[in-house]
Amino acid sequence: MSGLQQICVLGATGSIGLSTLDVIARHPQHYQVFALTGFRRLAELQALCLRYRPRYAVVPDAGAARELQGVLRSAGLPTDVLVGEAGLCEVAAHPEVDAVMAAIVGAAGLKPTLAAVAAGKKILLANKEALVMSGALFMQAVRRSGAVLLPIDSEHNAIFQCLPSDYARGLGAVGVRRILLTASGGPFRETPLAELEQVTPEQACAHPNWSMGRKISVDSASMMNKGLELIEACWLFDATPAQIEVVIHPQSVIHSLVDYVDGSVLAQLGNPDMRTPISHALAWPARIDSGVAPLDLFRIARLDFSAPDEVRFPCLRLARQAAEAGGTAPALLNAANEVAVAAFLERRIRFPEIAVIIDAVLTTESAQAVDDLDTVLAADACARAAAGVWLSRHGR
Ligand code: NDP
Ligand code: MG
Repeated sequence: MSGLQQICVLGATGSIGLSTLDVIARHPQHYQVFALTGFRRLAELQALCLRYRPRYAVVPDAGAARELQGVLRSAGLPTDVLVGEAGLCEVAAHPEVDAVMAAIVGAAGLKPTLAAVAAGKKILLANKEALVMSGALFMQAVRRSGAVLLPIDSEHNAIFQCLPSDYARGLGAVGVRRILLTASGGPFRETPLAELEQVTPEQACAHPNWSMGRKISVDSASMMNKGLELIEACWLFDATPAQIEVVIHPQSVIHSLVDYVDGSVLAQLGNPDMRTPISHALAWPARIDSGVAPLDLFRIARLDFSAPDEVRFPCLRLARQAAEAGGTAPALLNAANEVAVAAFLERRIRFPEIAVIIDAVLTTESAQAVDDLDTVLAADACARAAAGVWLSRHGR
């Protein structure tokens, strides 16, 4: 590794953002924080700015910008505070930035991530929703700009590590039979079905193996996270939905596997700590210390596997259907899910109604071919409106 790389961390105040900063802080000779962005946790963003002294910070509105700018100026920092989506896109595409950690949650990350792609950056992609929404356009833009796209999602990072470097020739051409995408099954893997009606946001967010933001935690509990990851894997590795099999593996030690035609199955293992994929992608193709403890196989002792239950987890089936339908179907699915998860977190609906809302939206809104970003954004808006109508009729 040579030189000091300038890193833009979109979503710095979140779970992935903080893990990224933890890794960066271990290697000050290699990485420097160029930009940090936050949304609601602005006191945390201020503390991060004081610690990492970025060139830029981005906040959602002018009032928050004035306040943060004042504090940073009086502390003698050179940081300029920018505002809103335009500010996010500006720092993501800034000529001095080498790598962008795309770690904003949900559709809000789409435009800034695409700005980094268009500018040909090295993109460390955590924000799976951006790729799910705009798949074909996103991948075309990567090819056009020559951006380097590295997956942060632990499963996709594992698959990337298990594939040969020339996998872009096609999975068939490099001898891959299928991709085995592992899933923990989340906190409700064994909860009696009737009890799912009563589960709370706190229970849904208490993931057995991973500590994550609230939206992805609920997605893990409903297995929509695995559904989004199936779509994400199709785009990243040019796979069909049929080439991807979901495997329940409750210990989250194997992060995914690649099955080759000669019967070899390659897996990537590690403790469930996002600093491993983050370090892998930051340093790729080199390796750096991530701070993650070595894997203790004797303590783990056993690894279990089972097939997913689509009655218990209808979101997985809905996502697979959207992946097969293509066009704007994944954008509709994603937007309906974002609205439904927010409503569940606000206690306006019960947990099983997340899948009911998504199913209703996918039934009433028909998928279109994707011509441009406007088509994707229109589908996103339609699905949000349709989910809103469902909530006003049935939600509390
Ligand atoms: P968090 O909720 O912890 O963090 C989300 C980040 O996005 C925060 O910095 C938040 O700012 C910011 N943000 C939220 N809404 C907006 C908005 N409208 N505009 C701008 N910024 C916004 O989520 P995670 O870190 O857990 O997840 C981030 C992404 O990474 C998600 O797409 C998730 O699916 C993916 N991912 C996460 C994993 C994990 O282990 N956490 C694993 C694999 C993927 P603020 O906090 O200041 O409000
Ligand atoms: Mg994952």
